[in-house]
Amino acid sequence: MLIITIDGPAGAGKSTVAQRLARRLNLLYLDTGAMYRAVALQALREKIDPTDELALDRLCKKISISFAEDPRGQRVFLQGEDVTERIREPEVGWMASAVSLKRPVREAMVALQRGMASQGGLVAEGRDTGTVVFPRAEAKFFLVADPRERALRRFRELKARGKEAFLEEVEGEVRKRDDQDSSRDLAPLKPAEDAYRIDSTGLSPEEVVEKMLKILGKTSLSR
Ligand code: C5P
Repeated sequence: MLIITIDGPAGAGKSTVAQRLARRLNLLYLDTGAMYRAVALQALREKIDPTDELALDRLCKKISISFAEDPRGQRVFLQGEDVTERIREPEVGWMASAVSLKRPVREAMVALQRGMASQGGLVAEGRDTGTVVFPRAEAKFFLVADPRERALRRFRELKARGKEAFLEEVEGEVRKRDDQDSSRDLAPLKPAEDAYRIDSTGLSPEEVVEKMLKILGKTSLSR
């Protein structure tokens, strides 16, 4: 089973690159951030306090998260409802960063993620896919980019979806989320020791994918 992991901070370009790489290699694409966002959305809907581990544990035991492909790309379903757009709201991103600190949430999501890998090879992206979820992945990448550029990408994404956004605010939110993700005790955002680090500043998604394919070619994994 071929497993490739891509970790890195918000706005480094993981989702776009992971989807393209998965398509090129004919692998499944696993967006682990979307799963934490789905948990966060459900917690918001049920007005669960993100520090209430018991309530989060109960929520994770009954939650249903699934993915499906359609011409628009990958869709995310929560309890059967398409929440693809809804989970990209900044308030859900922030809540995701808060609930993902909690052990019951991490354990439940990691179990689901490993279960998905039993269906076939995949490209997984997130914060801990190379360190915790798939420590024996065949190839691991850690994608970084200049914080200003990462904020600009998130800002443009929001604008493209017709949302009101202010660059300074988006930059502040991205930095705050990175700090929280990097400094937590459980599965902090950090490169696996055997990860290839790629800086995507000034590169197009296609250029990053080409770099990855070159590395995979050298490790004789690409088909
Ligand atoms: O990647 P994305 O921005 O969608 O992730 C949302 C949040 O989910 C992150 O800020 C992080 O706190 C959490 N997350 C995580 N572990 C992952 C993926 C995402 O803790 N593997």
